[in-house]
Amino acid sequence: MNFDYSKKVESLRKTLLEFMNEVVYPQERTYEEQLGQAGSRWEIPPIMEQMKEQAKRAGLWNLFLPDSEYGAGLSNLEYAPLCEIMGRSLIGPEVFNCSAPDTGNMEVLVRYGTREQKEKWLVPLLEGNIRSCFSMTEPDVASSDATNIEATIERQGGEYVVTGRKWWSSGAGDPRCKVAIVMGKTNPNAPAYEQQSMILVPMDAPGVNVKRMLPVFGYDHAPHGHAEIEYDRVRIPLDSMLWEPGKGFAIAQGRLGPGRIHHCMRLIGAAERALEVLCKRVRQRTAFGKTLDRQGVVQDWIASSRIEIEQARLLTLKAAYMMDTVGNKAAKAEIAMIKAVAPNMALQVIDRAIQALGAAGVCEDFPLASHWANARTLRLADGPDEVHKAAIAKMELRKYEEMKAITM
Ligand SMILES: Cc1cc2nc3c(=O)[nH]c(=O)nc-3n(C[C@H](O)[C@H](O)[C@H](O)COP(=O)(O)OP(=O)(O)OC[C@H]3O[C@@H](n4cnc5c(N)ncnc54)[C@H](O)[C@@H]3O)c2cc1C
Repeated sequence: MNFDYSKKVESLRKTLLEFMNEVVYPQERTYEEQLGQAGSRWEIPPIMEQMKEQAKRAGLWNLFLPDSEYGAGLSNLEYAPLCEIMGRSLIGPEVFNCSAPDTGNMEVLVRYGTREQKEKWLVPLLEGNIRSCFSMTEPDVASSDATNIEATIERQGGEYVVTGRKWWSSGAGDPRCKVAIVMGKTNPNAPAYEQQSMILVPMDAPGVNVKRMLPVFGYDHAPHGHAEIEYDRVRIPLDSMLWEPGKGFAIAQGRLGPGRIHHCMRLIGAAERALEVLCKRVRQRTAFGKTLDRQGVVQDWIASSRIEIEQARLLTLKAAYMMDTVGNKAAKAEIAMIKAVAPNMALQVIDRAIQALGAAGVCEDFPLASHWANARTLRLADGPDEVHKAAIAKMELRKYEEMKAITM
């Protein structure tokens, strides 16, 4: 395995680092200040659109997409160091049109969309003119087991009728969010993994009702947000189906692999930023006669953080390498491992930084509390830790199936 940067990646990395320093970090505060200035927090701060235009001009656009016809054509391994840098800022990924859930939705459209679906939804998403959401999780059932999903997609004559209640549909608060990919049952009598389908639902279709926005530890994450949505007998044309009925799980598998690794890459970036904040601060503050960086315990925090970040990064790069070389399916153990490792690593590192900053660490003057809240959600979102660990254990135990037969 060779994790050296190619010439192309080295050049993109340099441009991206400069862009983050010159454009993104300085505008984080402006972005927060502009939120709500138009009368509602659910309007787009103008600075975001300005930064997006700058990113496009700098050639830092759609870097996530391995498909070279539509995106930058980078492999997962090439994208990893770039995604990590974007993840250092919570507003970073959107600036480069590389934020969830749009990236996953765009990949689905590239892979499974018809020509018409691509023209209608993929093109404006790639241009950053609209946004999208993904509606799988439901309040009434344990959605970490997606076979539980109860929403229905029923064929009635020349239309599908979508009915169900979803929550945590991220991005649905954004006024530019024009389409949802909804998962629901088309055939409750089919085998468990063939009952579900995914369908494109325009957000302005009659019967799509955003009931409320759900905060994360008090953060509203406006204007993106996480919505509870009622799909009340939404009637949509037959050509809105993705791939074909019964393929919901197959699409979900394709979608979640890259989505998960991108979260991990961004979390490594968040941890790097927290460690940087920690180090800068402890060199400046003096307590009990010496600067904090001379306290052994603080040095232990710094060393442990560096070790844990490096470990998580290496495992993430290995997973990316395997996705590129043997495919997402064969890389599923590594994907599950990093999804269980990266959020916990980031939480630990950010928590140490908060401790090192004292009270300053929990307010918004520093990007720690918000990054912590975000990292905490990723122990649940896209599969809770326990589900990934159960999958890893199952794969591990399978290696000993034969041995069990012999000893019994
Ligand atoms: C900020 C945020 C954004 C999200 N964005 C989206 C989105 O855009 N679209 C979307 O559809 N969903 C989204 N989700 C939902 C997320 O994917 C689900 O919360 C997650 O899949 C878990 O489902 P659940 O909440 O129903 O938990 P449940 O399925 O009720 O599980 C609860 C807990 O049970 C335990 N558990 C479950 N299975 C096992 C097991 N096999 N072994 C041991 N313990 C187990 C775990 O500890 C788990 O946390 C988001 C969630 C958050 C917090």
